[in-house]
Amino acid sequence: MKGLTPEQRKRIVDKYVREKGISMRMIAKIEKVSRSAVFNAIKKYGQDLSFKDKPKSGRKIGSHNRNLDSKICRKIKTSPNASIRDVAKKCKTTVGMVQRAKKRNNLRTYRKQRKPKRSQKQAASVKTRLRKLYDTVLTKNEQCIIQDDETYVKLDYSVLPGPQYFTVRKGEQLDEGKTSIYAEKFGSKAMVWQAICECGMKSTAYITTSTMTTDVYIKECLKKRILPLIRRHRGSTLFWPDLASCHYASRTREWMEANGVEYVEKSMNPPNYPEVRPIEEYWAIMKRILRQRFSSADSVKKFKKDWVKAAKTVTVSVVRNLMKNVRVQVRKIARNQK
Ligand SMILES: [Zn+2]
Repeated sequence: MKGLTPEQRKRIVDKYVREKGISMRMIAKIEKVSRSAVFNAIKKYGQDLSFKDKPKSGRKIGSHNRNLDSKICRKIKTSPNASIRDVAKKCKTTVGMVQRAKKRNNLRTYRKQRKPKRSQKQAASVKTRLRKLYDTVLTKNEQCIIQDDETYVKLDYSVLPGPQYFTVRKGEQLDEGKTSIYAEKFGSKAMVWQAICECGMKSTAYITTSTMTTDVYIKECLKKRILPLIRRHRGSTLFWPDLASCHYASRTREWMEANGVEYVEKSMNPPNYPEVRPIEEYWAIMKRILRQRFSSADSVKKFKKDWVKAAKTVTVSVVRNLMKNVRVQVRKIARNQK
């Protein structure tokens, strides 16, 4: 991201100081910059009461380091998936040196996003829906967005997605059982339903081994879990359900309307769009926690207990971080995608 000019910073701080109660999000919108840029500008002004960039301090870089730097950068570019540790080893240097070299050369590493392949027609329909969604509901910044979803979880946690490791002494032989994952194709599993909110709160989870029906959804998810979550809010909320059919059955919609649940209409809800559904990332986090810290469940009862325990370790700030880009993403896609 490119930095702000001193003039931009001055305008941002002026707005922030003069217009009492204006949110950083609002300023970001007016100035057409990111929220973090606004946050940083205000923070920076608070620290040194200046709009100008400070001269960069830090160690001067010698010629030896310059060579090492370019070696490190080359290595990072040619093996994008290598860990910092691997790069350090290959370049015969330390982890800290690699980190500093990256910083000096403005290199940052990001994880590639998985995206479903979409046809042009699908993409066009998504754009229309997201534009409608953004213009009609997501501009209300004071509303908290709640998303729900369902996922299946194998009770044998060792087959949940993600890498697993083992350590051996040199020359030591291990049983295959300790060096492989045996995935049982039809191992027992349970369905988990849960909702998370932009403010970081989440509903309790509903866990079952039978399938979801409209009646179950209304009773167990909406009535017992979504409604209490909404009531924990002082301000208003916007419920953005998953597109599953029972979430938009006429009985479901009637129930939500009768109970004052403000929700995203089906015509604005884009199909198959994980970029704007961070709850899917929440599932990934939960599955990783189960695999890493819990022993597999021999019963649904144990699984329920494990899930509750694991969910407690996913803090408010983690959930808030997951949800914080939803509005930005929707706007980006609605405006830019061809
Ligand atoms: Zn909330």
